Amino acid sequence: MASTQISRIPRLQDHCMDALYPLLEKYSANSNSRAAGPLDNLAGDLTEMLMERAYLTAPAWTTMWYLFLTPKIKRAYLPWDTKVWRIAKNKCRNLREVFVFTRNVKFKTMILDLLPGMLTTLDLHGDLFYRGRPLPRGTHNNWLTEAEAWLRSMKVEKDIKPEMSGVGLSEIHLGDAQVSSEDLIVVLTHLPHIKLLRHYQMTRALCSMHGQTWRSSPSSAPTYELTNIDADFSHVVRCRMEPTAVLPGDALRLAVTLCPKATSVRLRVDSSTPHHVVAPLTALKNLHELTAVCVTSGERPLLDFSDLAPILEKFGPQSLRTLELKVLEEVDPHVIGKSCNKLERLTLSGCGFKTPSTCAQFRCKNQPLRLPALKLLFYADGDDFSWDHSLPPCFWRSTMSSNVRMKSLLEGVFLESPRIPVEVLQDVFSPKAAFPFLSIFSVCRSSELTPDHLQDVSKSMSSLKYLRLSKCDNIGVRNGVKIKRMFPGVELKIN
Ligand SMILES: [Zn+2]
Repeated sequence: MASTQISRIPRLQDHCMDALYPLLEKYSANSNSRAAGPLDNLAGDLTEMLMERAYLTAPAWTTMWYLFLTPKIKRAYLPWDTKVWRIAKNKCRNLREVFVFTRNVKFKTMILDLLPGMLTTLDLHGDLFYRGRPLPRGTHNNWLTEAEAWLRSMKVEKDIKPEMSGVGLSEIHLGDAQVSSEDLIVVLTHLPHIKLLRHYQMTRALCSMHGQTWRSSPSSAPTYELTNIDADFSHVVRCRMEPTAVLPGDALRLAVTLCPKATSVRLRVDSSTPHHVVAPLTALKNLHELTAVCVTSGERPLLDFSDLAPILEKFGPQSLRTLELKVLEEVDPHVIGKSCNKLERLTLSGCGFKTPSTCAQFRCKNQPLRLPALKLLFYADGDDFSWDHSLPPCFWRSTMSSNVRMKSLLEGVFLESPRIPVEVLQDVFSPKAAFPFLSIFSVCRSSELTPDHLQDVSKSMSSLKYLRLSKCDNIGVRNGVKIKRMFPGVELKIN
């Protein structure tokens, strides 16, 4: 009974908001956006809900939205529009977090003068603004974009907003905005105590500011509070090839000196990025998240997994929770399985794997490696750049095997062309398996998976909410009714 009532409340709330809308629209037609409005005395969170509903219905600023800019709101959806920001600065004295929903923004540093005094978080991406709750669900026909959206949403929902000490802007996520490193220098100069500055040009800005002095006098470098290092070593800038690489080879050595508190590192490299550039990351104190993406048009990159392995060996046993590797060669899943036993999120996309496999060296036959804390697993075979796509069978045992005594903690599994050997699949998806927390399971291009495997494992996936099976040879729309019966109440998509 109680749960029925709880589930009804949001709907009632939605009806109330729907009823309010025409009234607000009528009111806004004649109102002055700078003057006091009818919602000014309403509790901030109610106004925020109204604004969220407006955004989810049609993410475009209309004059009605000015009514939502009240002195009590703490969170707002704003467009990249200086007129709106000026009004927000005057009226929204309690505004802490803003999500800028305009896309393809050309970032101008004049925005810094228009920020409301209490603002701590300026987010042009969404991952900061939505922390602690799921992202709005879009519609994706394409398997990959849908899987990436799920993965992102499930991560954001788990993210916790850090304690903000003091007043002032602490976090900026610039998403895909067009930003020059000169602009970022202005940001860093204005906000020397900023904690997060998310953009691939960020390390370039730090290098331009401090590189020369640091090289002549290493001890003279200042330190920042920044918790992230985002670095782009590639020649590709906004989809265009540049003649020189964006970053000098010693960029990460400098970044680690300037940002000793960094715990999140995102790297972009290309086929000509030299081996040695990533080694300085082992000098960090702590690392929670490592992302390395190679952008290549087919040439085999110089930098490969063996360059990253020392970083995993250092931080895997102590702090690494998220690892994302895209289009990297020579990936050895044994190194991940052996070192990163606290890993909660693993993404391997378009990577090539070490051949011959190092199973004998790691003796995984006698004692399989395990990632016991793993919650999200994303594997995509991806495009055809890599030399060897096949993972050793032990990888699937280390990430997906479970039983009643050792329950899997997986919450989301996304697999594209995994090529799991049939005998491993039978073990992993046996009737004895236990996936009590798995809520999203999405598979594409798996020729090995059959309805019988799903039947075997269906009872062990009691929390499953969404099951997608795309382009799987043995599973088609014809199996829909049968699979629906195996997973009652689960949203099912077969195509
Ligand atoms: Zn092995």
